[in-house]
Amino acid sequence: MQTQLKIAFIGLGNMGGPMAINLLKAGMQVCVFDLMPQAVTKLTEQGASSANSVLEAVKDADIVISMLPAGKHVEALYLGDDKQAGLISVLDKNCLVIDSSTIDTATAQKVGKALAEHGIAFIDAPVSGGVGGATAGTLTFIVGGELSHYERALPVLNKMGKNIFHAGPLGAGQVAKICNNMLLSVLMVGTSEALQLAIDNGLDPKVVSDIMLQSSGRNWTLELYNPCPNVLPNVPSSKGYQGGFMVDLMKKDLGLAIDTAIKSESFTPMGELAQSLYGKHSMQGNGQLDFSSIFSMFSKHSNKE
Ligand code: NAD
Repeated sequence: MQTQLKIAFIGLGNMGGPMAINLLKAGMQVCVFDLMPQAVTKLTEQGASSANSVLEAVKDADIVISMLPAGKHVEALYLGDDKQAGLISVLDKNCLVIDSSTIDTATAQKVGKALAEHGIAFIDAPVSGGVGGATAGTLTFIVGGELSHYERALPVLNKMGKNIFHAGPLGAGQVAKICNNMLLSVLMVGTSEALQLAIDNGLDPKVVSDIMLQSSGRNWTLELYNPCPNVLPNVPSSKGYQGGFMVDLMKKDLGLAIDTAIKSESFTPMGELAQSLYGKHSMQGNGQLDFSSIFSMFSKHSNKE
């Protein structure tokens, strides 16, 4: 019965593309839409159907999934703006909307409440696990919203992820997600700084990584996403920092974390430092590179202003 579900997938970038492919591999019927025609073609080659407009893509959809850059894109998609009508005007009342983008909590709540007023179910379901996790179907989904909506989404989220958490009410998924990403940025900066210190003192970064992986400095960035080129194969640092999770997206997430901290009057000095470092890295022209490229900031040979 699940294979009969009609899914509309909007936003087929680094993350959305491989997520939609996993739904197709699971035998689901998927209609895709992205502003970039080449992103759509990649999916139709894998068996997805496509539409001329986003309004057409969601026609008769049981489930709509979006994977867009930021809150303004999600709000415009569902509630509309001066350029386009929102999906809210065409979605079926029985439709479940799953937004997996990482966005500000206020927008997630605004969109969720507006859809609820039209009888449409909504969950915020940001993900962790990067492009590797999206491709392998092992993402962690962090869901905010009504428990019954979460349970309805499970059979679909299970096709794209391995660990699916219900974090709490509407917006809770986004709060948990930005806490995670603030910590991730701090770990990436710290790992880069430590590896560069070892290199500056004549050590081999691969050997030092192996040592730290068996010591108390072990962490996800060191083990699975090493920022030093050629320590690990198939990670962005070994591919010119292409693909992966863009510096500008991390900068956005740190902005969300700090805004949240201001509202809750929380003390986040490490997050603020990471925000400042990623802001400078982006200003130096690295915004489109993977976030592990912050490693170059610590190199004596990098092009610093
Ligand atoms: P991306 O820039 O690669 O992809 C975004 C896609 O959305 C693009 O293909 C773009 O053309 C499309 N798009 C933008 N506006 C649109 C619209 N109105 N209609 C249809 N398509 C539209 O970004 P990404 O790396 O896939 O990230 C997407 C979201 O996932 C972001 O919120 C990001 O913070 C989050 N995220 C990314 C990663 C990662 O490792 N890349 C990990 C976890 C979470």
